[in-house]
Amino acid sequence: MKKADTVQFLGCHVGMKAPRYFLGSIEEALSYDADACMIYTGAPQNSKRKPVSELRVEEGVALFKSAGWDARQVVIHAPYIINLGNSIKEGAAEFAREFLAEELRRVALIGSKYLVLHPGAHLKEGSETGIKWIAEGLNEILDADESDVMILLETMAGKGSEVGCTFEELQAIISQIHKTDRIGVCLDTCHIHDAGYSLSDFDAVMKSFDEIIGLDRLRVCHVNDSKNPKGARKDRHENIGHGYIGFDLLEAIVSDERLANVIKILETPWVDGKAPYKEEIDALRKGVPADHMSRKPLAPLETLF
Ligand code: FE
Ligand code: FE
Ligand code: ZN
Repeated sequence: MKKADTVQFLGCHVGMKAPRYFLGSIEEALSYDADACMIYTGAPQNSKRKPVSELRVEEGVALFKSAGWDARQVVIHAPYIINLGNSIKEGAAEFAREFLAEELRRVALIGSKYLVLHPGAHLKEGSETGIKWIAEGLNEILDADESDVMILLETMAGKGSEVGCTFEELQAIISQIHKTDRIGVCLDTCHIHDAGYSLSDFDAVMKSFDEIIGLDRLRVCHVNDSKNPKGARKDRHENIGHGYIGFDLLEAIVSDERLANVIKILETPWVDGKAPYKEEIDALRKGVPADHMSRKPLAPLETLF
């Protein structure tokens, strides 16, 4: 794979807390020397949300503009409790649709362009049923929305009954969407590794993605190491160079020319109460691991499966 000259659009998820809210999110990202970030509009585990008018959006926008960013560089992640694929519990899919419609309006008000969404879970009803419910839900939301925000379906690790742990499943959803220019993909390195893809052959992964989905749909990449071997279907993120993927592969991915315009976001865990992002961003940009980071996977990538 070809290397880009400089690694652009590399950042991490950041908080959004009182009293500085969105302004504080951008300040946090800049403190790590990031040139991109990802936020949740509230707690990721629940659906309580403050009005956007209270989030100090104008000040945050002014700050990221003064740093030379455009709106694409601020990604928003939908909460992971909502499940468009829930065909079992009365009202659950309805709630997910209403919440997501609202969330899209919030994203547009904040001025962001990308909303990352976990497609959903089929809850033992089978992935075909899950895919159908998810696509119907997305169509209902997008058909009624006039903004230009793209919903990016995230590649999933395959824990429980998650839908979207193969490129084929994501494409099965995407192919049913009416507003085709409003749907894209967020590729998570930990998730696809856990789902069984070999990051050690990233060219093959990219080729397969391009053939099945199309690389033009790839807008965001979540850059995480994994606590588990390939195919473990666990979804537990690890710090860069501390897991089963290793520094070298992750560095090759962030500097891959095909991903030059893709927004890259770290979602690695905090260490001893501290954010690891400044150091991880610096190491990935330079292509030089910190002393404690391992270049190679901590265990052979193919151990268990
Ligand atoms: Fe996610
Ligand atoms: Fe992710
Ligand atoms: Zn994850």
